[in-house]
Amino acid sequence: MNDAADVIVVGAGLAGLVATAELADGGRRVILLEQEPEPWLGGQAYWSFGGLFLVNSPEQRRLGVRDSHELALRDWMATAGFDREEDQWPRKWAEAYVAFAAGEKRPWLRSHGIGFFPVVGWAERGGYGPTGPGNSVPRFHVTWGTGPAVVAPFERRVREAAARGQVSLIFRHRVDALSVTGSVVDGVRGAVLEPGPVERGRPSSRVQVGEFELHAQAVIVTSGGIGGNHDLVRQNWPARLGEPPARMLTGVPAHVDGRMLGITETAGGTVINRDRMWHYVEGIQDWNPIWPGHGIRILPGPSSMWFDALGNRLPAPLFPGFDTLGTLEHLTKTGFDYSWFALTQRIIKREFALSGSEQNPDLTNKDIGLLLQRVISKSGPAPVEAFKEHGADFVVASNLTDLVQGMNALTDEPRLDPVKLEREITARDREVDNGLTQDQQILAIRAARRYLGDRLIRVAKPHRLLDPAAGPLIAARLRILTRKTLGGLQTDLSGRVLRADGTPLPGLYAAGEVAGFGGGGMHGYRSLEGTFLGGCLFSGRIAGRAVAAALA
Ligand SMILES: Cc1cc2nc3c(=O)[nH]c(=O)nc-3n(C[C@H](O)[C@H](O)[C@H](O)COP(=O)(O)OP(=O)(O)OC[C@H]3O[C@@H](n4cnc5c(N)ncnc54)[C@H](O)[C@@H]3O)c2cc1C
Repeated sequence: MNDAADVIVVGAGLAGLVATAELADGGRRVILLEQEPEPWLGGQAYWSFGGLFLVNSPEQRRLGVRDSHELALRDWMATAGFDREEDQWPRKWAEAYVAFAAGEKRPWLRSHGIGFFPVVGWAERGGYGPTGPGNSVPRFHVTWGTGPAVVAPFERRVREAAARGQVSLIFRHRVDALSVTGSVVDGVRGAVLEPGPVERGRPSSRVQVGEFELHAQAVIVTSGGIGGNHDLVRQNWPARLGEPPARMLTGVPAHVDGRMLGITETAGGTVINRDRMWHYVEGIQDWNPIWPGHGIRILPGPSSMWFDALGNRLPAPLFPGFDTLGTLEHLTKTGFDYSWFALTQRIIKREFALSGSEQNPDLTNKDIGLLLQRVISKSGPAPVEAFKEHGADFVVASNLTDLVQGMNALTDEPRLDPVKLEREITARDREVDNGLTQDQQILAIRAARRYLGDRLIRVAKPHRLLDPAAGPLIAARLRILTRKTLGGLQTDLSGRVLRADGTPLPGLYAAGEVAGFGGGGMHGYRSLEGTFLGGCLFSGRIAGRAVAAALA
């Protein structure tokens, strides 16, 4: 093994790849260590939908969206809600990141050959008025080619550097400790894991076949978050979000285990904002799972009616796609670990997108013919239809009585009263024909359709759910899906990991999800979405460049 390196990077996800590419460009020799097998390069980003938060982009302007750095910063700060003393660095990272998203980010990605689907999505709409949290305008830019296309240029740069002899890519090496000499982090120790072919994303063997120790002038930790480790999620679960749900789905591969957080703390690094996390409320069990407990997130348009386990309609503005954590808090307080969408075929076809590269073969494979099917076909995209057919959480029926019966059959006790549900749906349907509706959700749908992107492909024309022509009726049972870690290793604006006294721990840097995407939590309490991949790109780039510049 080539152990003559200036820097060791721990974790070959997106943040690790970007940091390594920047280090190599800065003339440094790097060892990039990864516990998983070789085909897994790119970590979670490979599986991602490739949604990126951009501000005032040409794609937005073409759709008539007026955005600005100032508006995005206002939205970010209202959404983050920074209120702690330790938010000093996260807040600085947030300011720097929003400036990046409004400035250099798009041209830099374009210079890497990354392009965007022309219709910009409107995620986390908020719904609390102009001073509240949420995106005032659409900012979710889907990468043409989804997650794999975000990873590809950075993987290419790293492989080219490896071919030049500047980077050693070492797989099946799991870091178990950071070595510290005289209060300077100068290397890593760990276990060599048994090799063996494992399909990407599936749990790999943890059998150890050896040990290793490597030294370098600096170490960058880019090991990801905690979402695959439900014990840690529960341990860190904040009281403000109610009790952790009895059962959760897992939105990330098993390697997202949070181990490196504890390992870095042992070496003297500080972890902050552990209780800030970003889990989704629209999780469905994958009928064709890749990792344990695999759940898929529905990225919903605003039209499905949302009911809790007892059939109570969720209050305004907790409509699909408006306020992830507000809805999570509301649902956990019901005491049940699931809720329901009720919708029609017309809505599912337009409004259900499934997050994940493998769930979007048209966008991932840049297949325009398949993409057009989304618009012209009467059915939904094939992966959505497959869930409707095989998914354990779906009920399809031609009338409401059968639908409710099917929903009740999916739960341990029949908790839904068909009369109550019918009353709610009929009342809502009545309002569709009323130009002066009092129904806040219908008002929100009409407002959404004033945005060209939503009207074109994302938001169904308001219609009566019980109109047979819009059917069949569909119900989807939704569970909480663990995904992102918003807190993490506290870092300064160079990505240096800080000690409890606020001074940098010499030799140690961090980037990506393990660093709360910068500073130990640049999102504060909540995200505007599409900000995680960008957070890896930005913090990985900063750490890589800072280390390259700092070394003798
Ligand atoms: C299905 C899905 C959809 C998503 N969609 C979006 C989206 O549209 N937009 C968006 O912004 N974000 C999205 N995300 C989130 C985003 O992909 C992740 O937050 C981001 O990729 C995290 O990257 P990372 O490099 O910090 O960590 P990871 O991707 O988790 O990579 C960390 C790597 O470190 C390795 N590692 C960990 N510990 C050790 C150790 N001790 N020794 C050696 N190696 C170790 C792991 O094996 C892994 O390969 C999505 C995520 C998923 C799963």
